[in-house]
Amino acid sequence: MLNIDLHCHSTISDGLLTPAGVATRAHRNGVNVWALTDHDEISGIAAARNTATDLGMRHVAGVEISVTWANNTIHIVGLQIDETNLALQQGLLATRNGREQRARDISSLLGQVGIANAFEGALQYVGNPELISRTHFARYLVEAGVCRDVNEVFKNYLVQGKPGYIPHRWSSLTDAIGWIRGAGGVAVIAHPGRYDLSQVQMGAFLDEFKQLGGLGIEVVTGSHTPDQYEEYSKVAVHYGFLASRGSDFHGPGESATDLGALPPLPPHLLPVWYDWF
Ligand code: AMP
Ligand code: MN
Ligand code: MN
Ligand code: MN
Repeated sequence: MLNIDLHCHSTISDGLLTPAGVATRAHRNGVNVWALTDHDEISGIAAARNTATDLGMRHVAGVEISVTWANNTIHIVGLQIDETNLALQQGLLATRNGREQRARDISSLLGQVGIANAFEGALQYVGNPELISRTHFARYLVEAGVCRDVNEVFKNYLVQGKPGYIPHRWSSLTDAIGWIRGAGGVAVIAHPGRYDLSQVQMGAFLDEFKQLGGLGIEVVTGSHTPDQYEEYSKVAVHYGFLASRGSDFHGPGESATDLGALPPLPPHLLPVWYDWF
């Protein structure tokens, strides 16, 4: 059986390894089919594809787009995209655009609670100047001794209701799905179990995603518990969504789930890769 991992990050967004480094680790872990899905970025795809091809691992062009839907941040993964598509490139550029100012605003708020120069600190961890993320702040706050690990930072800072939280407007769901479909790709809901939506809101979101041409949902992801594999298997069947599997690996020592290490998809689901090979 193929080991397929369709969600992870490199230094092009908030991962710790370069695209080639992630490819090498995925291959070493036994992954046969692999997608790098950096946040709002596709500039790592060329290196990812080259290294994967050299290693004899099948590569799938991917991206994870940040979306604001009903005041909630939702992530949409695009798979099998043509990364040379202009509308996709421009849309992602626009999505990245607000990140620097947001980071400066986060830094100001952290300054107010006694954490100085967090912008400069976070920048030391950034691999791509267009993509400064909360993860980079989290790494800096660990280095600065404010928290013991990245998870503790997210519990106490950078999230709604905590110091260092700046609300942000990402792309719309309509645009994100439109860019992915326009580039020949498949839109997939990333880690649905992570969103803070009521049951009614989740239903409305799933309906709208499907109505806009969204086709897939992550069922087995590093962000889900085994109970959530069950829960979102049922959602996939109910809505007729294709199922996806991805570790959401960000780096050794930071991510609980390594590349290729998750259980397989439940066999009754139709996988997102059913017609790829
Ligand atoms: P941003 O796109 O800048 O808002 O950063 C989002 C990223 O922060 C996610 O992709 C995760 O990598 C990371 N993140 C968010 N929440 C948590 C959490 N509770 N624990 C660890 N990492 C998190
Ligand atoms: Mn991330
Ligand atoms: Mn995500
Ligand atoms: Mn991710």
